[in-house]
Amino acid sequence: MRRTPALIAGGGPAGSVAALLLAQGGDRPLVLERSREPQDALCGGFLSWRTLESLANVGLDPATLGGHVVRRVVLFAGKGRAESPLPAPAIGLSRLRLDALLLDAARTAGAGVERGVTIRSAEDTTLHTGDGAAVSGDTLFLATGKHDLRGTMRDAPVGDDPAMGVRVRLAPNPALTRLVGDAIELHAVAGGYGGLVLQEDGSANLCMALRRSRLKAAGDLPALLRELADELPALGERLAHLHGTPAIDAIANVPYGWRAKGTVPGVYRLGDQAGVIPSLAGEGMGIAIASAIRAVRHWQGHGPDGAPDFQLTLRRHLHRPIALAGVLRTLAEHPAAHPLLLAGGRVAPLVNAMARWTRITSVSRRSANPA
Ligand SMILES: Cc1cc2nc3c(=O)[nH]c(=O)nc-3n(C[C@H](O)[C@H](O)[C@H](O)COP(=O)(O)OP(=O)(O)OC[C@H]3O[C@@H](n4cnc5c(N)ncnc54)[C@H](O)[C@@H]3O)c2cc1C
Repeated sequence: MRRTPALIAGGGPAGSVAALLLAQGGDRPLVLERSREPQDALCGGFLSWRTLESLANVGLDPATLGGHVVRRVVLFAGKGRAESPLPAPAIGLSRLRLDALLLDAARTAGAGVERGVTIRSAEDTTLHTGDGAAVSGDTLFLATGKHDLRGTMRDAPVGDDPAMGVRVRLAPNPALTRLVGDAIELHAVAGGYGGLVLQEDGSANLCMALRRSRLKAAGDLPALLRELADELPALGERLAHLHGTPAIDAIANVPYGWRAKGTVPGVYRLGDQAGVIPSLAGEGMGIAIASAIRAVRHWQGHGPDGAPDFQLTLRRHLHRPIALAGVLRTLAEHPAAHPLLLAGGRVAPLVNAMARWTRITSVSRRSANPA
């Protein structure tokens, strides 16, 4: 069996940043990533100012990412609209670009990256791969994100009406560019919401989190999109720019609100494998990156046995952002609460506070005791 000091399962934002920092520390980590080529993962593609701060802290200059600059948040609910400036500029960036940049940075720093390797299961710090091989690490950094591995499943209850993620891309179009501009738009509908933002190539990414019951009632995804367009005129105006048969990506059973209660020595859980923030906060990638920075710092001081302490501390740090995002999600998906949401959305200091309190604190890779 192959053995390595630091083994990383998954090469998304969490796994790549952990690999980058470990490699910079001279530890030659190994990343196993299922996709052969960079993928445009299902995600809203909104990188908050705090996420950009975290990237800067690991030496990735946000100016070089080439994202579409976002300065405002605009909320649509029913026939109402509210707008407020963001606390600081953010960007819209496709996962195709972000994931490729991060994994390349890790590889350049000296991390081993093996693509096209599907991990079938995990047993303590050993990963069993699709080709029947096994790789063992002194430490395993678990960063498979939205996908669970047999042996390390998240203990999140599915519930009666779980959330699903649905994403469509709208091709670059001058009218749409004028409509959305430098905003991150939040569209609140019964049973969910959608986030819409322009990205580096001028396309718009509409990514929604909707209760499964909405899909069941509509019948299929195209019918669901038509229903949403009728329900919310502003969303309909944007969806009118979808032509032909659009590619619609979907993911089921997103365990919003879940936080890992702990872990075993040797296994550090990162990103969505540590906690899942409702996506309307636009902070999942921020948590992925910040958790990787905190994990590597903790590991450098405490080694494999430090994992349980790290996990408990991270759980505490995730409490406020995830709980508050959960409250906002509940308001967004209940039309009776939309007047309240819109009233709040017009009070810039309140939006500012909500925006800040749904972020995880960014840490420098050198700060003391960051976990
Ligand atoms: C609808 C929706 C919209 C969102 N919008 C935003 C947003 O706008 N802004 C934001 O910050 N966050 C957003 N998020 C959250 C964000 O997408 C996640 O929090 C973030 O991707 C977590 O990063 P990660 O590295 O933990 O996992 P992931 O990004 O899921 O990466 C995991 C990696 O592991 C690999 N992998 C998985 N299983 C295996 C396996 N068995 N073997 C080998 N490799 C494997 C995958 O291929 C992938 O590369 C959204 C989430 C949803 C559901």
